[in-house]
Amino acid sequence: MIVKSLELMDYRNYSHLNMQFHKGTNILYGENAQGKTNILEAVYLGGTTKSHRGSKDKEIIKFQKEEAHIRIIIEKNQIPHRIDLHLKKNKAKGVAIDGIPIKRQGELFGMLNLVFFSPEDLYIIKNGPGERRRFLDLELCQIDKVYLHHLSNYNKSLAQRNNLLKQISFNRNLLDTLYIWDTKLTEYGKKIIESREQFIGKLNDLVRDIHKRLTGDREKLILQYEPNVKMNEFEERLKKSLERDLTLKMTNIGPHRDDLSFLIDSIDIRKYGSQGQQRTAALSCKLAEIELVKSIINENPVLLLDDVLSELDRQRQTHLLNSIGDIQTIITCTGLEEFVNHRFQYNKIFHVVNGT
Ligand code: ATP
Ligand code: MG
Repeated sequence: MIVKSLELMDYRNYSHLNMQFHKGTNILYGENAQGKTNILEAVYLGGTTKSHRGSKDKEIIKFQKEEAHIRIIIEKNQIPHRIDLHLKKNKAKGVAIDGIPIKRQGELFGMLNLVFFSPEDLYIIKNGPGERRRFLDLELCQIDKVYLHHLSNYNKSLAQRNNLLKQISFNRNLLDTLYIWDTKLTEYGKKIIESREQFIGKLNDLVRDIHKRLTGDREKLILQYEPNVKMNEFEERLKKSLERDLTLKMTNIGPHRDDLSFLIDSIDIRKYGSQGQQRTAALSCKLAEIELVKSIINENPVLLLDDVLSELDRQRQTHLLNSIGDIQTIITCTGLEEFVNHRFQYNKIFHVVNGT
């Protein structure tokens, strides 16, 4: 699939913009704070209805304006489709596919598959478990519509349960109703654990070879899922944790506490890896993700690379650029040296200057 064009109105620092992408490699270059990442964010919104930075709609609308519009024309199996987003300050956003409004985010699923790679991704190993869960969830939601549904229900149940735990501290009688959320939490939680386990298994098969290549056969990388609770022990552990949950007024057991470890020759590189090792492993994961998405959707996703080249040394830059292949790519950068130095072929170049 490819993104053919993007049209913006009163979005971030753009009053009006209309740009046509090439089906190959597109480069957006310009000084800091000119609006390069904003363009990638707009494409990401078109694929997922969400900002990759987790921004709220009212932050995305241009300062002093009440609404913003994003229109993306994509081509999927040679057929063009139009995705429209209408963002409003104090109301839910409107999304339409080919002019027909959709009610749930899930309906957009599979229209535009994206792999977003930002400098923060290079720190998933170094940063806390929250970042690693975010990585798992973002990837899984892209390739598995059912996961998206389970995760959203799990998060709602978790919020409700935590809310009730707070209320129980004022009114102990409410304890009798806690089982309602326990049932939902374990029902959706088990599905999440199962999907994460399978996803990490598949990613592992791909990551091993990629990482071997990246390190010249020196390192063997293994991803290991660290579920906070095993599926068949969820109910029992939740019950045992009740007093603690009541004291702390929050749920202490469940996949919202999961983690993912990265082992090189049985050493946990979250704790003992060098910075270079951690970044290379993160890069291997991202490259594996591209392969995985390709194999699942039977089509090429669109790759969005936000300023990552400058974060990598030369050898890793070459690896990344070489693995792009025939995938449509939109790359942001502040200079063009990397491309010149690598004699890397690109198809279209945009100079981004202050929202134009
Ligand atoms: P860098 O190279 O530093 O990453 P960039 O070109 O990627 O820069 P962006 O993040 O795309 O920069 O754009 C940042 C600019 O957009 C900032 O100048 C910021 O003030 C502006 N901006 C962000 N949100 C809005 C908004 N809602 N309305 C108007 N301008 C905005
Ligand atoms: Mg940027």
